Amino acid sequence: MTAEIAKLKEILKNSENIVFFGGAGVSTESGIPDFRSADGLYSGKYAYPPETILSHSFFMENTEEFYRFYKEKMLYPGAKPNDAHKALAELEKQGKLKAVITQNVDGLHTQAGSKNVLELHGSALRNLCMSCKECYTVDIIIKSDGIPLCKCGGTIKPDVVLYEEGLNADVMSKATKAIHDADVLIVGGTSLNVYPAAGMINYYRGDKLILINQSETSFDKYANLIIREKIGLALGSAIESLS
Ligand code: ZN
Repeated sequence: MTAEIAKLKEILKNSENIVFFGGAGVSTESGIPDFRSADGLYSGKYAYPPETILSHSFFMENTEEFYRFYKEKMLYPGAKPNDAHKALAELEKQGKLKAVITQNVDGLHTQAGSKNVLELHGSALRNLCMSCKECYTVDIIIKSDGIPLCKCGGTIKPDVVLYEEGLNADVMSKATKAIHDADVLIVGGTSLNVYPAAGMINYYRGDKLILINQSETSFDKYANLIIREKIGLALGSAIESLS
């Protein structure tokens, strides 16, 4: 165990009000690549960058092409929670962790057993008919050929926040309150460059801001502890024999 992870372990041991804020890097260890990462996405398969395809207007105007990309790049039905998801669920079970705030839409925190998960960008596991609001599981998207349709004939839309769309106000206010009230704030798997991450971290008032990221972030100068490790390894080993 590195000195940094030992320090993390000590902080976790002494806190009853931990909040976790995570980005795409939390899920890459479950085999879900960050769709923003450049590798492979521009290989000529798609005529537009991911940020264009995953926008509200593109969805409305090019629904079939949206789904071609979405099914291939955004859905990973075989993905399983990794050591980071499991460690956070365990910390919540011990009464130490109060909320997981995530920018991911894969539902892996819930699958790992976390209860209070604030999904800033929604969930790919929920899908709503745009006409009658009937809710569907992700299966209907995976199994559909082309555009997934409701039994009423309406188009089904994933309950994920697309570019040009606003975040859910209720989720945002719960998340900012959790961050504001936190004793320990762990930020992991994000460079904090994606809206609204950076703005939300500013609500933290404590003196135990922990960053776990393999590369530099714009918040390194504010951090009380920086851990340059894989997040599954860092959290997994920090909670070992913690009770
Ligand atoms: Zn419908």
